[in-house]
Amino acid sequence: MLEPRIVKLNTRTGVNVERLLPHKVIRKIGAWCFVDHLRPIQHNEPMVVAAHPHTGLQTVSWPISGQIEHRDSIGSNQNIVPGQLNLMTAGSGIAHSELSIGPGSVPMHMVQLWIALPAESRHIDPSFAHHADLPKFLNDGYSVELLIGDFMGEVAPTRVYSPLMATQLETESQAQATFIMNPEFEHGVLVLTGCASVNGVSIEAGQLLYLETGIAQFDISSEPETKLLIIGGEPMDEKLLMWWNFIARDQSEIEQMRLEWNEGHERYPKFEDRIDGRILAPDLPSVAMRAR
Ligand code: MN
Repeated sequence: MLEPRIVKLNTRTGVNVERLLPHKVIRKIGAWCFVDHLRPIQHNEPMVVAAHPHTGLQTVSWPISGQIEHRDSIGSNQNIVPGQLNLMTAGSGIAHSELSIGPGSVPMHMVQLWIALPAESRHIDPSFAHHADLPKFLNDGYSVELLIGDFMGEVAPTRVYSPLMATQLETESQAQATFIMNPEFEHGVLVLTGCASVNGVSIEAGQLLYLETGIAQFDISSEPETKLLIIGGEPMDEKLLMWWNFIARDQSEIEQMRLEWNEGHERYPKFEDRIDGRILAPDLPSVAMRAR
């Protein structure tokens, strides 16, 4: 069971997230290498995150309540509301900003995840996709929405670069159902609201249960008003060097990525937003950084 740790985001407002990955015991689940849970109980202010870069990864934004305006350096300008998914592929480099909008901007409830791109895809051109019509189906009292990969006979339209899945399960009343899982995947179950148990292990809201490969079935029971997110993937052997908003493989790559962003390299075309300004990368640590 992975407990969240509270991390203050670098935003112009007060936003504390519950970070579940990377965790000191579990670095990643498949290529899922970063999980931030923004919960209403943290009493966050609206999100005002100025332009900042990413490399070597995809970001997934999944709002549960609240609305976000996304803008980026390849010209995207996209509002996202609950039930929709933003998938930003950073590849060789992209910059973006995020702004809470609308009357439902507080309390904000959202999950933001990163997917590490494997060696052969990590330098691809940046792209952005908004998915407003994801596959949905019912299974014994659960409303299932498929975000990524294939699950229970459905296939999500989202493009990823390694074997992965993500799905949300939601119940109104108490429910119990069996879900067929890919035994080649390791999985994580994050309870967003309510309380659930997976194969006999209880999970409270905010906790992430890690399940290793070799499990072909989840028996899930839930209290009323429960919402949970399942992520999974084939274990990824590649060692990653994650620093600030970049994913690289060694320190020299990180040094170059940091310099390019801070010096305004053409890799990151300027874009207009309603926030203005940009977040510079901090100083590098004085100790050598290693991939792990
Ligand atoms: Mn970002």
